[in-house]
Amino acid sequence: MFESLSDKLKRTLKNLRGEGVLRPEHVDAALREIRLALLEADVNYKVAKDFIARVREKALGQEVWQELKPAEQVVKIVYDELVELLGGTSSRLVFTRQAPNVVMVVGLQGSGKTTSTGKIALWLAKNEERKPLLVSTDVYRPAAREQLKVIAKATGQAIFDLPESNDPVLLAREAVRHARDYGYDTLLIDTAGRLHIDDQLMEELVQIKTETRPVEILFVADAMTGQDAVRSAEEFHRRVGITGVILTKMDGDARGGAALSIKQVTGQPVKFVGVGEKYDALEPFYPDRIAQRILG
Ligand code: GDP
Repeated sequence: MFESLSDKLKRTLKNLRGEGVLRPEHVDAALREIRLALLEADVNYKVAKDFIARVREKALGQEVWQELKPAEQVVKIVYDELVELLGGTSSRLVFTRQAPNVVMVVGLQGSGKTTSTGKIALWLAKNEERKPLLVSTDVYRPAAREQLKVIAKATGQAIFDLPESNDPVLLAREAVRHARDYGYDTLLIDTAGRLHIDDQLMEELVQIKTETRPVEILFVADAMTGQDAVRSAEEFHRRVGITGVILTKMDGDARGGAALSIKQVTGQPVKFVGVGEKYDALEPFYPDRIAQRILG
């Protein structure tokens, strides 16, 4: 992940450091290289363009180069802007005192949605001392509903189901009731996934949202799918309203475009990353650590 982008940025900034006197044309040449590297990493075109414009303005606007050497100053500006691109500060899940807090997990089939729902439950139980309850409202794919049960069992989490029911809204409503009655403070709803965005799926998600009033709606995106993931996130946000993103398969060799574009395009931050198939392979997303890794 980010390897090729990281190599290119490091090389460009190293060349910049090698210049005796740093002239605006040197900065511009470096910025052209950085822009290309971002596009090759599959960063959204407009996001890359705006990024370069901001770095350029800051770099050339430095009238007095204080403390740091000029090239170091540019490196610092690139670092700061990368952190911004990745979402600024780390974003946590936001909980209220209302019980249960509902977290809806949405996304396309195959993105890692069901696995991530189980991973979040485990993470919350381990790290935030929460008492989660799981429910699947994927009434179209019995295998998906079964898969959540397998994950619940393997991770020791509680799960609610009405095996006879094929009504997603009823399942969600009854799960909220069950959570309230049995003292679960967090209800994680694994919603149905589809191969493509369709009106029926979106309508169903809006109905579940209206019924359960979630504190978080997390969109699960497969980092390997790059700009497709960004476009889907944008569409889910427009139609349902998301509060954050979980980027899965960050352990793969994705180029990084999704991670670097989602916040700018949707306005919503990446909150967690999936880093493996195991149920504890979930980490909060730290923009500064990623930027440091990219720039080495
Ligand atoms: P869903 O259809 O969106 O619910 O997707 P699943 O949760 O069934 O996941 C699809 C596949 O992706 C499964 O084989 C998961 O083990 C795998 N998967 C999910 N998250 C990750 C991740 O962060 N890293 C890796 N390597 N595989 C993942």
